[in-house]
Amino acid sequence: MSRSRFESLTCFYYLLRRCTVALRADKQGPHRVAFDKNKARILKTQSVCGICGKPVDVRLKAPNPLAPAIDHIVPVSKGGHPSAMENLQLTHAQCNRQKSDKLFNSKQATAEPKVIGNRNLPQSRDWASYEGK
Ligand SMILES: [Zn+2]
Repeated sequence: MSRSRFESLTCFYYLLRRCTVALRADKQGPHRVAFDKNKARILKTQSVCGICGKPVDVRLKAPNPLAPAIDHIVPVSKGGHPSAMENLQLTHAQCNRQKSDKLFNSKQATAEPKVIGNRNLPQSRDWASYEGK
């Protein structure tokens, strides 16, 4: 595959993911307001990652892997509440992502890779070390 084709596929996949995230229940509709309110409350009142137990610097911003993220303790996809305070916790962005990956892997590790068109697209990309070359 040529470099530019790879880049455009990666870009397409990235946008596809962004759209998927945007359609989740906590990102739209009535839960959106409650989620944003609870997120602001958590950022103000909590300072320790619910997954690794280390402090979170809430001043950091994405794409910093140590930036704060709001985690659903029980994932929305597993029936967890999308916006209730009881189901939300402060985490590092990287811890939240690793947790998601684990849930993803435990369920789908043995499944065939998802095929879009006639080729497999990369399932992830390490943006932290991406240099834009
Ligand atoms: Zn953490």
